[in-house]
Amino acid sequence: MPSLRQLEFAFHPVSASLEDAPRLAQPGDYRIVGHSPRLPGPSTTMEAVGLQCGRAAALEATARELLRSLGAKRFAAKLRVEWNSRLQTAAGRADYRRKLISLNPRLVEYVEEIDRTLRHELAHILAHFRAGRRRISPHGREWQQACRDLGIAGEKRCHTLPFPAKRYAPRYVYRCPNCGRDFPRVRKVKRTVACLACCRAHSRGEFDERFRLKRLR
Ligand SMILES: [Zn+2]
Ligand SMILES: [Zn+2]
Repeated sequence: MPSLRQLEFAFHPVSASLEDAPRLAQPGDYRIVGHSPRLPGPSTTMEAVGLQCGRAAALEATARELLRSLGAKRFAAKLRVEWNSRLQTAAGRADYRRKLISLNPRLVEYVEEIDRTLRHELAHILAHFRAGRRRISPHGREWQQACRDLGIAGEKRCHTLPFPAKRYAPRYVYRCPNCGRDFPRVRKVKRTVACLACCRAHSRGEFDERFRLKRLR
C-alpha cells in the first residue's frame, strides 16, 4: 500500500475550549500541520493535495463572539469564516448576504495580520448589519465606526496582502477529474498526486487512482 502524503494546511486551535472566557485569537493558537507521518514508500510516492480551503473554526468563534458583544446576536450565530485560496492578492473578503468572511491562507505567513484582517472584514459585516437597508459606502463612516468598535481604529481601507508584490505565477495547473478543482503549482509535481477532498469524500482519505490529478498545462 503506497503511503499517502497530505500537503494541506490544517488549522488546529491549540486551546479549543469554547467555554473559556472569550478572548482573541493569539498567534500561538494556530499551528500549521504539515506532512503527516510517512512510511518509507515505494519508488512512486502517492500524495493527496488539497486546496488551502476550509472552515476556520477558531476564528469563526472569535468573530461570532465579537459580533454578539456588539449586539448582532442572531446574525453572529450564522456567520462563517473560511480560508479560501482563491483569493489572490486580497487578504480577506466579506460577503454580507452570504454571512461569510473569507481569508487568504497566505496570511499564515504573517500571523500577526490574521486577527486584524478578520476585524477589518468583520467591520464590513457589522456596518451593513447596522445600516439595515440603507446603502453605505464600503469604507465609509459606518465602516470606520465599526472598526473603532472592533478595536482597530484608524484601519486602512486596503485589503491587499502585506506580501511582497512579487508572486511566482503558477506555471503548472493540475485538475481533479472528479470534482474539477484546479491546483495551480509553481513547480512541476513529480509525485503521483490525487485530490485530497475527493479522496476524503469517497475513499476514506486513502489515495485513489480515480482522483489522480491530470496536468492541464
Ligand atoms: Zn475593506
Ligand atoms: Zn476532486
